[in-house]
Amino acid sequence: MLLVDLELKVIAEKHGHLCPYLALGWRVGSFFKKFLLEKEFTGFENFFVHSYTHTCALNALELMNFKVTCENIGEHVYLLQAITGKALSMVAVNSEIIVPPYKMEELAFKVYSDTALYYEKAHYNYLFDRWIVDILSASDEELFVFPHKKV
Ligand SMILES: [Zn+2]
Repeated sequence: MLLVDLELKVIAEKHGHLCPYLALGWRVGSFFKKFLLEKEFTGFENFFVHSYTHTCALNALELMNFKVTCENIGEHVYLLQAITGKALSMVAVNSEIIVPPYKMEELAFKVYSDTALYYEKAHYNYLFDRWIVDILSASDEELFVFPHKKV
């Protein structure tokens, strides 16, 4: 088990597992919370995050008390909206970080079809954990692209 922020640990317990997209959702939610706190908002339940892809990231955002809406077009883009629908902030995720590491999908197929050798399982677990670490350790500037600094 990776050592992670306590809030993310609680989210992972409620979600059932710690996965890369849950970690990503927590990073998106933390970024938007920081944005709102700087604007002196302290409650997050009056804000929507509109997501353009459907992954475990949405559950992380819900568990952080955001209202979540989704239009699944497979893009890792998240839009923060006020309850009035006004867009406040928007981030897109750097595709280099969100694409599964090289070899990961091939190994995942073997692991889930129970044909992986011992060292392949170990390698899969290593890549999976490292992918999460990459998401958690990237700075906001590395993890996000800001399509519109001020929407
Ligand atoms: Zn998950």
